[in-house]
Amino acid sequence: MIKVALNGYGTIGKRVANAIMLQPDMKLIGIAKTSPNYEAFVAQKMGINIYVPQESIKSFDEAGIKVAGNIEDMIKEANIVVDATPNGVGAQYKELYQKFGKNAIFQGGEKANVADVSFSSLCNYNEAIGKKYIRVVSCNTTALLRTICTLNKLSKVEKVRATIVRRAADPKEVKKGPINALVPDPASVPSHHAKDVNSVLKDLDIITMAVIAPTTYMHMHLLNVTLKSQVSKEDVINQFLNTNRFLLVRGKSKVNSTAEIIEVARDLGRIRNDIPEVVIFEDSIYTMGNEVFLMYAVHQESIVVPENIDAIRASLNLASAEDSIKITNTSLNIGKGYLI
Ligand code: NAD
Repeated sequence: MIKVALNGYGTIGKRVANAIMLQPDMKLIGIAKTSPNYEAFVAQKMGINIYVPQESIKSFDEAGIKVAGNIEDMIKEANIVVDATPNGVGAQYKELYQKFGKNAIFQGGEKANVADVSFSSLCNYNEAIGKKYIRVVSCNTTALLRTICTLNKLSKVEKVRATIVRRAADPKEVKKGPINALVPDPASVPSHHAKDVNSVLKDLDIITMAVIAPTTYMHMHLLNVTLKSQVSKEDVINQFLNTNRFLLVRGKSKVNSTAEIIEVARDLGRIRNDIPEVVIFEDSIYTMGNEVFLMYAVHQESIVVPENIDAIRASLNLASAEDSIKITNTSLNIGKGYLI
């Protein structure tokens, strides 16, 4: 069993922690928290070891949270650390991971140069095998890369033009907006997502534009992909129906929005209504010669979870891409086909 430590128990960290606990080849040795807030109480209730900065032990004690040790103790005990701290904080922790000679997985909020490789399971697992530091790209980039690399199996992807409608905040983020606006993110083109895709697919011709919308549920991507050869709508539908980590929704099921996708996830009893799969609106798939158009929704809080688990296996050379993806999908109940 690989001993995994989780630094930064927030939106992404708590989900990756849960996922680690479900892996047959991994053990979560603990999580690191800096403030004794409700997330720390939840972790305690779930029986997870909590490590904190040395200077915060007293405040956790006073709040009634049992502490297993300081963050250095946790890192020392681990084989690998998943860093899910806020943007830029992971880079500061890298020194500590290096000091103790530990492999680490970083998140998309870090600059690409924090790691030896930027990672997408369906695109470049092999490139990440044995790499000490891996960066799992952001939620939007993970969805773009999964989609591009899946279409690339149908016919070589020559060009991508994408518009990204971003959720303004995660559901728990009470201090973020916008409330009544659509905000170019930024107005200049391309948005940073194209560059992030290029951190994995270095030579791809891709331009992205992004706008922030007042919603918390999911992102939405509007994609136009030029392939090397002509494909039919049925080819594209079948390609996605046969690939794990994608789900399709049909107009006839009356799932016509991100709100209804989340409602289905709730009705199906998915934990935290998470949908780590890319959810494609089947009716949006349109082909014209060698061009493909489609729209899909991205659950920002959970989409990177399976990639984090695969990145752990790749870093420690525990399994081939095929095996890791299979174990991750099975343990996390990640499917393919139709959402409903
Ligand atoms: P978050 O704010 O929800 O969680 C971060 C956690 O780290 C919090 O629990 C916070 O208390 C803790 N923390 C802060 N400083 C710390 C420190 N010095 N040491 C240890 N813990 C500390 O953030 P998040 O949304 O989970 O984002 C984490 C990373 O994942 C970022 O790189 C982000 O860009 C990336 N990401 C976020 C999303 C998303 O939609 N939320 C999606 C994909 C990737």
